[in-house]
Amino acid sequence: MCAGESKNSGRDMFVDLVNATAEVDLRLSDFHPRSCLQTPVHRVERARFRVIDYHNHLDSTAPREVLAIMDATNVEQVVNITMQVGQAALDQMERFHSAAPGRFSTIGWMDWSGVERGDFVPVTLDRLHRLVEHGAVGIKFWKDFGLTLRDEKGSLLRMDDERFAPIFEECATLHLPVMFHTADPSAFFLPIDAENERYEELAAHPAWGFSDSPVSKRELLEQRNRVIARHPKTTFVGAHCAESGEDLAYLAQQLDALPNLFIDISARTPELGRQPYAARRFLLKYADRIIFGTDLLPDVEMYRLYFRFLETADEYFEYPSHASRQGRWNIYGVFLPEDVLKKIYRENALKLLPSLR
Ligand SMILES: [Zn+2]
Repeated sequence: MCAGESKNSGRDMFVDLVNATAEVDLRLSDFHPRSCLQTPVHRVERARFRVIDYHNHLDSTAPREVLAIMDATNVEQVVNITMQVGQAALDQMERFHSAAPGRFSTIGWMDWSGVERGDFVPVTLDRLHRLVEHGAVGIKFWKDFGLTLRDEKGSLLRMDDERFAPIFEECATLHLPVMFHTADPSAFFLPIDAENERYEELAAHPAWGFSDSPVSKRELLEQRNRVIARHPKTTFVGAHCAESGEDLAYLAQQLDALPNLFIDISARTPELGRQPYAARRFLLKYADRIIFGTDLLPDVEMYRLYFRFLETADEYFEYPSHASRQGRWNIYGVFLPEDVLKKIYRENALKLLPSLR
């Protein structure tokens, strides 16, 4: 009668077991699971080779404190992407360059003031010259270009607007690399809801959400890529894996099509490290075009996590991140060979920092 009993109740223990789901009200922000995995841990105290952090923002920091962190982790130089413009930017440059010549350099921030005026392009060329005279090693165009910046009529500026072409041409003449941070992670263009893989981060920073943007992420990247293709003599750096870290096949396509494009890996170990097989193949294949950067406030443990990702075969460990994290996953090391590490850590950046060669 055993079988009959099970039939009578209409229940089967095994079916119940595989169908059970939890209905609980533990708050997501109170949920902090600890992995029970026991796997080898290789702390990397200092990078195996000298490092240039090509993407950081030091305006709020003290050079002496940053230098102590650099010395402890084998970071030879940090490139400060100042977020100041005008005289304030020059002051930032002076503050770092005088503190430790050779240990810091500066990428300027595109100054959009006066964009509605007819003389914006010549004014911008003067601003670029001034930056270069004071030692700037690049100019950064942030994601507001294409997403939010508007002209005098209130229309969104297009990145590939021919009007701006002389600016990118001048950068070639000045040997000034152009860094583009265009668009953002794919999840930022999706609704902030229960299906969003970066829900907690976006909940902490709702202003980072662009699901109502009139321009799609792909369209923004294509505008940017048209600029890069139109100015083959200008060197471009696609910050944050050119915002294509979720789709390495597409990123590879872009690198194949645009020989004057480099990328930095700043703030993208979470993307690369959660797809370690594809990421390793990608990092090996494009080793000459990939530049180390962090985009996080200098910190010894932050650097060590980056090095652990690049140097070791450790599995399932936390990625370096800002406080709100990027998503609920961990990463895997890609154990790069020495020649590739040297290129990504330093040699590729030196191609863009000619004065330091
Ligand atoms: Zn940045």
